[in-house]
Amino acid sequence: MSSSREIYLDNNATTPPLPEVMAAVTEAMSCSFGNPSSSHRSGERARQLLRRSREAVAELLGGEPGSWMFTSGATEANNWVLQRICMRSNSRLLTTEIEHSSIKSLCEVLEDQGTSVCRLPTNRSGLIDSDWLAEAITPDTTLVSIHWVNNETGVIQPVKELARICRDRGVLFHTDASQAVGKLIVDVEDLGCDFLSFSAHKFHGPQGIGGLYVRPGVKLPPMIFGGGQESGQRPGTENLPGIAGVGAAAELRHRQLKRAVTALAELRDIFETGVLQQIPNVFINGDRENRVCNTTNLRFEGIDGQALVARLDQRGIRCSQSSACTNRRPEPSYVLRCMGFSEAEAYASVRFSFSVMNSRQDVKETVQILAEIVSHLRRFGATIKDLD
Ligand code: PMP
Repeated sequence: MSSSREIYLDNNATTPPLPEVMAAVTEAMSCSFGNPSSSHRSGERARQLLRRSREAVAELLGGEPGSWMFTSGATEANNWVLQRICMRSNSRLLTTEIEHSSIKSLCEVLEDQGTSVCRLPTNRSGLIDSDWLAEAITPDTTLVSIHWVNNETGVIQPVKELARICRDRGVLFHTDASQAVGKLIVDVEDLGCDFLSFSAHKFHGPQGIGGLYVRPGVKLPPMIFGGGQESGQRPGTENLPGIAGVGAAAELRHRQLKRAVTALAELRDIFETGVLQQIPNVFINGDRENRVCNTTNLRFEGIDGQALVARLDQRGIRCSQSSACTNRRPEPSYVLRCMGFSEAEAYASVRFSFSVMNSRQDVKETVQILAEIVSHLRRFGATIKDLD
């Protein structure tokens, strides 16, 4: 049975753009149209838009506007930092086993090219121990790259402490903050990082736009070469509609961060309470204390998560089994596997991630439908007993 109403609970994959963001994008493609490199008035209008958006990003995330570079998103920003800082043949990179695929895959390439890569493990809660990092740093360590919030579990890493350790040891520190922006207070100066990446579509901005913070004084060679855009660091005519959209999204989130976090935590908690009360043998994966407000990763004991996600989809509820970038592969989540969960436990896990566009009614309906489907699957098959 299919449903016409969509309940979108896959906001860690991407969030729907807010009307204000769509208006800003449209405006950049109509009234504010222009090339920021042009010397005439249309160019000046476009330059102003570019400047305003950079200021809005800096207001939301800290640092001087000039320390922020627009990129096509976090994948590009992550690649930029890791590839360029580790371009020396004998460089050493310290990261974790549970990074997003944009870092994980890149590390394999860097390793092939001669970079020594050390991946820190995680405990069963999904947390990286700062003592492990301190022990793993050697005099030849070039860069440490550790994500702030995990996209699958929502677990928050102690990045401020990790950045302090790196600073004390004179090692550059990069964090992929894609899942932190808009859900936590982010201030690059307070954090003390050298580089920070983000994507706008994780907080209701457009897809294909994001940014990279580079701490003043830190040298990051460009990835691509061309004209003088983004101070010659990231040349090519700017994605002005996207940049206008990220500016609008940053401005809105800056004004409403506290309210958004409270509302998201409330929805997530009502959802978790409802599920745990109504469905037996469901467990929360990841550290409950150190978790962003909008994410829950639930393990439905004995259930095939892929079947559950498909049945929910038929009923109009969108959620996912692992990160959007890997969930087309029939593999269990590497994040959960690295946390020490068995293959069967990883297959039985599903991520639900909320946004400010969700309502209590969405939560209520989802819990009810979820209870029906899980009970049906447990009675009539699509369980994963055979995997253990
Ligand atoms: N890092 C993390 C933690 C993410 O969740 C994502 C998006 N799934 C990315 C990086 C990549 O973002 P994008 O696809 O927008 O480049």
